[in-house]
Amino acid sequence: MEIVEKLIAELGSEKVLLGEALSERYPHIWSMDTPLIAKAVILPNCTQDVCTITQICNEYRQRIIVHGGLTNLVGATVSQENDIVVSLEKLNKIIEVDHVGRTMIVEAGVILEKIQNDASEKDMLFPLNFGAKGTAQIGGCISCNAGGMRVLKYGMTRNQILGVEGVLANGTVINSMKKIIKDNSGYDLKQLFIGAEGTLAIVTKAVLRLREKPTSRNCAFIGFNDFTKVTEFLKYVDGSLGGKLSCFEVMWHSTYKALTSSPSLLDPPLDYQYDYYVLIEALGGHPEQDSQHFSEVLEDAITAELILDAAIANTASDLNWFFNIREDVGVLKAGPYHDQHFDISLPINDIGDYVENTLEQLSKIEQIDVAYAFGHLADGNIHFLVMKKNLSDNLRKEINKIVYSPLNDLKGSVSAEHGIGLDKKSYLNISRTTAELDLMKLIKRSLDPNNILNPDRIFDLN
Ligand SMILES: Cc1cc2nc3c(=O)[nH]c(=O)nc-3n(C[C@H](O)[C@H](O)[C@H](O)COP(=O)(O)OP(=O)(O)OC[C@H]3O[C@@H](n4cnc5c(N)ncnc54)[C@H](O)[C@@H]3O)c2cc1C
Repeated sequence: MEIVEKLIAELGSEKVLLGEALSERYPHIWSMDTPLIAKAVILPNCTQDVCTITQICNEYRQRIIVHGGLTNLVGATVSQENDIVVSLEKLNKIIEVDHVGRTMIVEAGVILEKIQNDASEKDMLFPLNFGAKGTAQIGGCISCNAGGMRVLKYGMTRNQILGVEGVLANGTVINSMKKIIKDNSGYDLKQLFIGAEGTLAIVTKAVLRLREKPTSRNCAFIGFNDFTKVTEFLKYVDGSLGGKLSCFEVMWHSTYKALTSSPSLLDPPLDYQYDYYVLIEALGGHPEQDSQHFSEVLEDAITAELILDAAIANTASDLNWFFNIREDVGVLKAGPYHDQHFDISLPINDIGDYVENTLEQLSKIEQIDVAYAFGHLADGNIHFLVMKKNLSDNLRKEINKIVYSPLNDLKGSVSAEHGIGLDKKSYLNISRTTAELDLMKLIKRSLDPNNILNPDRIFDLN
């Protein structure tokens, strides 16, 4: 029996999309006009379906490409003609919210923003937050160990996950779904699946850690002309706010300008006279006191000439306005050019010089229209979005060389939070030693000996 017939026989035809139905689907939210290429798309709606799919695919040595919300920025969800795509979109239930234990149990396909909203309605916080929250699924966030804008205070996805249920390539369910924070009973197996980019298991459920919902939220845009002052200010403001600082997002001048001028509909909170702009957020528990303290901390910074100017969000709509400026980075892609993304990590002290040198070298390439720099400075994480006039492979490699070459000496990483996918695997050896890569491959071969789960992602096995 052909594999597709077998899948239909076991799962029912409504869960197996073929032929014309595939042309309505796409490999990424930024290429919705590109029809998906695959043998079939399977839509499981329970863990047992995922077991059935993996067992059959393992038996047939069939490659599986896992689809979450399709918002990754590393080419991870692209498939080939003979691939079977497994999309988690029907596993979309919030199973339980425990406001005493401060946990939420969810299926992998639940959208991040729904989790945030449901937690908020129960006066709790799920702190993971980034621009694609309205589309990214929690299974995708777990598989990429997503970061975002509140890592400084709460950590990455890894820090928000208490339990994971994952299905291995041979159909075995690894149920590590405890609602406990501490568990040193042997290896912490769920961590194997977090950040594995779907190469070791298909994540089907998770236990999320919720936090108390802050009752105060203060936010400001700050202007600087000297990058050393930006890093000094980070240390000052984090200390002065006594643990309340939750986000510290830097934008270089051209990025800030593009995010706050047409086609963006958002106005600039500060005018365009500064070289660097920083968005900060503080979360606390005493609304009046916190707001007054926040203003005083910024006034003192102006008096001490640490910062040049500050625009403080005074209303809930100001808060949305300020955050939307940082979150709506899709607007940077407007225009006729092709985009190339970077997500690098390096020590905070090296960021100023590194970005300046990198932007200078990129500006000398005639085939680049503009290179935007921005990022989660407190996490040592900078993004570049390079807008190119053509798609040539040589140009792509030339740009990669400029961005990645210094990272080895700086002991940085080619991926801070987006992962490796297909796009960055040739550069993985900049961040990892041969022994580390060998261990990763050993784990992959042990858990997925037929290399069926997201093959070719992160590294090639040969
Ligand atoms: C505008 C924008 C802003 C962004 N900002 C940030 C940011 O600040 N921080 C950040 O970290 N990322 C950011 N991203 C990247 C992206 O949103 C995250 O990587 C996100 O976690 C991907 O989730 P997804 O559901 O879309 O996964 P997908 O893109 O569908 O998949 C990502 C990878 O995970 C695998 N996968 C998906 N679901 C599962 C599952 N259930 N089991 C096993 N494997 C699975 C896929 O095969 C793929 O390898 C941004 C993206 C956009 C478009």
